[in-house]
Amino acid sequence: MTQSYKIVDHTYDVIVVGAGGAGLRATLGMTAAGLKTACVTKVFPTRSHTVAAQGGIGASLGNMGDDNWRYHMYDTVKGSDWLGDQDAIEYLCRNAVPAVYELEHFGVPFSRTEDGKIYQRPFGGHTQRYGEAMAKRACAAADRTGHAILHTLYQQCLKHKAEFFVEYFALDLIMDEEGACRGVMALNMEDGVIHRFRAHMVVLATGGYGRAYFSCTSAHTCTGDGNAMVLRAGLPLQDMEFVQFHPTGIYGSGCLITEGARGEGGYLTNSAGERFMERYAPSAKDLASRDVVSRAMTVEINEGRGVGAAGDHIMLHLEHLDAATLHERLPGISETAKIFAGVEVTKEPIPVLPTVHYNMGGIPTNYMAEVIRPSEANPDAVVPGLMAIGEAACVSVHGANRLGTNSLIDLVVFGRAAAHRAADVVKPGAPHKPLPANAGDNALARLDRIRNAKGGSTTASLRDKLQRTMQAHAAVFRNSKLLSEGVEKVNGLAKGLDDLGITDRSLIWNSDLIEALELDNLIGQAQATMVSGEARKESRGAHAHDDFPDRDDVTWMKHSVAWVDEKSNVSLTYRPVHMYTLTEEAEVFPPKARVY
Ligand SMILES: Cc1cc2nc3c(=O)[nH]c(=O)nc-3n(C[C@H](O)[C@H](O)[C@H](O)COP(=O)(O)OP(=O)(O)OC[C@H]3O[C@@H](n4cnc5c(N)ncnc54)[C@H](O)[C@@H]3O)c2cc1C
Repeated sequence: MTQSYKIVDHTYDVIVVGAGGAGLRATLGMTAAGLKTACVTKVFPTRSHTVAAQGGIGASLGNMGDDNWRYHMYDTVKGSDWLGDQDAIEYLCRNAVPAVYELEHFGVPFSRTEDGKIYQRPFGGHTQRYGEAMAKRACAAADRTGHAILHTLYQQCLKHKAEFFVEYFALDLIMDEEGACRGVMALNMEDGVIHRFRAHMVVLATGGYGRAYFSCTSAHTCTGDGNAMVLRAGLPLQDMEFVQFHPTGIYGSGCLITEGARGEGGYLTNSAGERFMERYAPSAKDLASRDVVSRAMTVEINEGRGVGAAGDHIMLHLEHLDAATLHERLPGISETAKIFAGVEVTKEPIPVLPTVHYNMGGIPTNYMAEVIRPSEANPDAVVPGLMAIGEAACVSVHGANRLGTNSLIDLVVFGRAAAHRAADVVKPGAPHKPLPANAGDNALARLDRIRNAKGGSTTASLRDKLQRTMQAHAAVFRNSKLLSEGVEKVNGLAKGLDDLGITDRSLIWNSDLIEALELDNLIGQAQATMVSGEARKESRGAHAHDDFPDRDDVTWMKHSVAWVDEKSNVSLTYRPVHMYTLTEEAEVFPPKARVY
């Protein structure tokens, strides 16, 4: 090691890494259960990407029409294209209802119906009576639902006196020889001091890795740092080939226009002014599942029916909607369209394009949020001391394609589940075994390596290459040629990281260093995405393979499990999909054709 670091030690019952919706819900539950809990976060809690969630949180309250959790469960299984684990989906949909009422009681300012109930709007793929008609299931606070939830959860955390370490950048997990997680290493970005957090349980709530792509709706901070920490700990990531493209990112900027806009009556047209979704999804039309709509838009553009001088985008119409509705239900996106597309939504359509939005893949867990290290002997083996929740996790409730509103509900349902499980397995104040003598050395060696990188390429140039490779080789439609070239390119980029050069070696407020650490984190996830995608010879959910256009349940109804070793080599194993439920009150939905 080239430098000795000043290290501050901490001891907690639980450490939560991440303060988005998932991290805050877990922090709140754990603190309330009497566990000494610290929440470590690289951005101020209310700046986490959850704050940008717009359209709604899914729960079958039935406030605005017939609904129940079984319909929600069926829609989620179908939305997942039968790759979701049905025990976990049952857990999600049943617990969604009490979880939303809990948010209401915490103080989330939901929009209201005339008679004062929580307002609910339709969203893609959410139906009544197993596909008969569209359901109104998305509980919304106008089009700022994530903002309302995140601020409320943060206030509740403060009320319970949760401890926060804000603008601390988590570097790596501390693992012991038995394969248990014992804590986490972090850099305080304000003063450059290293902190070693010891805990009985570490919860990763670090969000998705949308920034592996060139055009995405997620924040610049969405670099999947927790996923990368897991890979470096010798643990795998699951279903990484399934990346969701949201149909309506604003053309050019990638900023999101919520699906709630179509839920309120918006629709898409091509260059002929045709409402083309009627051809692709005769009954759900513009409210078909996201993968379906994104593919339809891409086909329209590829077949020469795109809009604009280059024929490279599609139009989203809201101008026929009542101005009062737009003002009341969609104020945020009206503003976004004005700023990022120069469009007055009451008068003209918004130019849109499918844009990377969500990562179905992530750290494999069970429905209690415990991280899984699958082996042939036990595909569901639990890693002691480690949990993952939120977009970082792959429970798997979203399978091959997530339905809109099912992420926000995933955050609070599994954030709560993590708190319950931690309260079961950790005794408040229980003594800690001494840490291994070399605890944290791996994190510091990596920090040293990256900080002292003397190659000829800047972080920005390498990141640009990575993002463009992902965008070109693992997009809405894939094929064998694109994917195998993509594998070569990302593997090459992983090795090419040797050429990284850092000019500022300071540990204090050094964005060059932090972005280099994030880039290093992104690369392993990009490799896992590309390699898992190349291997999967079928089309399922968000993985649309031109050379294998059909779903193949005989060979491929299984989770991809990707491992990346210290030399950046990727290997794959597979794990069965859970085709069982937790209770007899739920039924298993066997695979069938997925039409909307
Ligand atoms: C624009 C947009 C709109 C959306 N709208 C909806 C919607 O209407 N409904 C819906 O269901 N879903 C929606 N989604 C998806 C949903 O918002 C996200 O999947 C979800 O908010 C992710 O929450 P999270 O808690 O897992 O992570 P995030 O909210 O991304 O938070 C991650 C946290 O981890 C911390 N962190 C990360 N790395 C480190 C590190 N190295 N060290 C320390 N801390 C770290 C960050 O500081 C942050 O606090 C939307 C997503 C986007 C991008």
